[in-house]
Amino acid sequence: MSLKPALFLDRDGTLIVDTDFVRGPEAVVPLPGAAEAVARANAAGWYAVVITNQSGIARGILTEDDYQAVAREVERQFAARGARLDLQLHCPHFPAISGPCECRKPGLKLYRQAVAQLGIDPLQSWFIGDRLRDLVPARALGGRGLHVLTGTRTDDTPITEAGFEQVADLPAAVARALKAR
Ligand SMILES: [Mg+2]
Ligand SMILES: [Zn+2]
Repeated sequence: MSLKPALFLDRDGTLIVDTDFVRGPEAVVPLPGAAEAVARANAAGWYAVVITNQSGIARGILTEDDYQAVAREVERQFAARGARLDLQLHCPHFPAISGPCECRKPGLKLYRQAVAQLGIDPLQSWFIGDRLRDLVPARALGGRGLHVLTGTRTDDTPITEAGFEQVADLPAAVARALKAR
C-alpha cells in the first residue's frame, strides 16, 4: 500500500465554531467553507484526520457519549456537504485532573495511531489548527504546520514567532497545502 498525505485537522475553531466546549450535537456549526475545503482535499487524494483535545470530558463538562454524539454530527454535517472525514481521534484527559497522558496535543500518540491505521506519509502532511499545540507535532513528525485565524482562544507564544505560516481559514489552508504538492 502506498502512503498518502493527510491533513491533520484540529476540530474546534478550525472545522467548527469553538463554543468553548462543544457539549452536544446541537452546538455543531461548521465554519464557513470548511466542509467544501475538506472535500477539495479528499478529491486531491488526501486523508482528512481530526485530532482534538476534549478535556471537557475529564473536567466533567461533557461525557464520552456526548463527545461521540458530537463527532457523529460533525461527520454527518460535513458528509452532507460532500466532505469525508476519514478518522476522528480525541484525548479526553486534562493533566490537572486525570494526570499526564501522551494523547493530549501536542502529544504525538493520536497522530502516530492515525499514521499507522490509515497508511499516512507524515512528511507530506499538514498540521492545521487555531492553536500552537495543533502545529507543534509537525516538528516531530516531519510535516508542515499552518495556523488558521478562525479560533476564539489564543496561546502565550505568538505562532509566527514559533516559525509557522498563518492563513485566514481552512479554505486558505487547503489551498496552500494543495499548491505545495
Ligand atoms: Mg482549536
Ligand atoms: Zn490524553
